[in-house]
Amino acid sequence: MSNDCIFCRIVKGEIPSQKVYEDEYAIAFRDLNPQAPVHCLVIPKKHKPRLDSYGDVIADAEELGRVLLAANKTAKALGLEDFRAVVNCGTGAGQTVFHLHVHILGGRDFTWPPG
Ligand code: AMP
Repeated sequence: MSNDCIFCRIVKGEIPSQKVYEDEYAIAFRDLNPQAPVHCLVIPKKHKPRLDSYGDVIADAEELGRVLLAANKTAKALGLEDFRAVVNCGTGAGQTVFHLHVHILGGRDFTWPPG
């Protein structure tokens, strides 16, 4: 946990969020600035700044896998059959909050490649 990380503060309940899913490893909550009719963020409860902060070790593989499984469960809980899951890694990729998060976007069609 990091005291100056906004998402750690959401995990701790210090900042309110509209939670849509929670388990032992991850939580999901609605994005404040939605880019689709449904837009949630799935985050690990443990602080890791970005996707490439995870190493090639079993514990990290499990943690990342748990976050992706939580993303599936979140999409299901939201009734999304099709959805886009996005991880921005680094400022140049659009990352603004440095606590790993998977965007779950749904409720509209998406184009490829993304802008
Ligand atoms: P990224 O640009 O990939 O780092 O995504 C960060 C996302 O976090 C953005 O879509 C923001 O709208 C969202 N966000 C920032 N603060 C909050 C918050 N307190 N509650 C919900 N979403 C947030």
